[in-house]
Amino acid sequence: MFDFLKKKLNEVVKKVTDKVAPKEKEKKPKPKKEEKKETFTTKIVKAFTEINVSPEKVDEIFQEIEIDLLEADVAVEAIDKIKEDLKKEIVGKSIKKSELEKHIKNVFKKTLNEMLDVPKIDLMKKLEKKPTLFVFLGFNGSGKTTTMAKIAYWLQSKKLSCVFAAGDSFRAASIEQLEEHGKKLNVNVIKHQYGADPAAVIFDAVKYAQAKKIDVVLADTAGRTHTNKNLMDQLEKIVRVNKPDLKILVIDSMTGNDIINQCRMFDQAVGVDALVLTKTDVSNKGGSILSAAYVLKKPILFLGTGQSYKDLHEYNPKEIAEKLI
Ligand code: GDP
Repeated sequence: MFDFLKKKLNEVVKKVTDKVAPKEKEKKPKPKKEEKKETFTTKIVKAFTEINVSPEKVDEIFQEIEIDLLEADVAVEAIDKIKEDLKKEIVGKSIKKSELEKHIKNVFKKTLNEMLDVPKIDLMKKLEKKPTLFVFLGFNGSGKTTTMAKIAYWLQSKKLSCVFAAGDSFRAASIEQLEEHGKKLNVNVIKHQYGADPAAVIFDAVKYAQAKKIDVVLADTAGRTHTNKNLMDQLEKIVRVNKPDLKILVIDSMTGNDIINQCRMFDQAVGVDALVLTKTDVSNKGGSILSAAYVLKKPILFLGTGQSYKDLHEYNPKEIAEKLI
């Protein structure tokens, strides 16, 4: 996971270090007069072992290295934050050359920690309400159904029961796909016919959970209808009728920086409470996670890390920052 981003970030640290303090200038000239040796030497050593960079120099360096970060799917807003933080910690400061790389790494680490730090949701607390309703949003293929199944498996590991609501009554085979997971996980599926009103399907699933004392309703929704306006109207109705406890947007981390547009679109339409980023096992770029965390500042519940039920990783920003630098 994140190998490409890690490689790029570490290359960037090296490039910045080399450009701030190019190695060929490190030759130490000899002092001319013996009697002035001490003060002169001290000055020279200082001049050649300590660096002092201008903000313009940092801008110039970033013009060249921006492409490395863009290649790893880091959004422009996130690159600007990295640049500005570096300026704050390096411009006008006297830093020993020997400590420069370590210093830059520490600045990067601090920046990454800040970027990955998103508001938290205490899921276990949310789950105290019975039944809790989680509605899953996202485009077709983002991994919504698979994520719902993984979350059902995760809930079962916490001794909580759940039911699926087949709220995607639009895409062919979506109900069967959910039933398939239901069979494997021993989770019932509440469904209507294709073309039925998803708000009503979810409503029925909540009633079923109340009657059967089931802890959680996991509701699927359509990823795309014939127009996005229809999709958003449908989602708006689902939310108005059923008042979900969490609206979880499932996004494919391979989508790159379109993640930001996708999230804003769903957020404007119905409000997104939390994110799950899927396919982090195949998206070796990783910058989309940085961008999603920093630009969107939405709680990230889980990362999808594979195709089986156990491949769901609770989001841990510190662990990611440590891995990256
Ligand atoms: P939906 O249309 O949003 O419901 O998407 P699906 O749940 O059907 O997932 C689309 C494809 O992505 C399926 O082949 C899933 O197995 C796959 N998928 C979902 N999550 C992950 C993940 O975290 N890692 C990998 N490698 N594949 C995933």
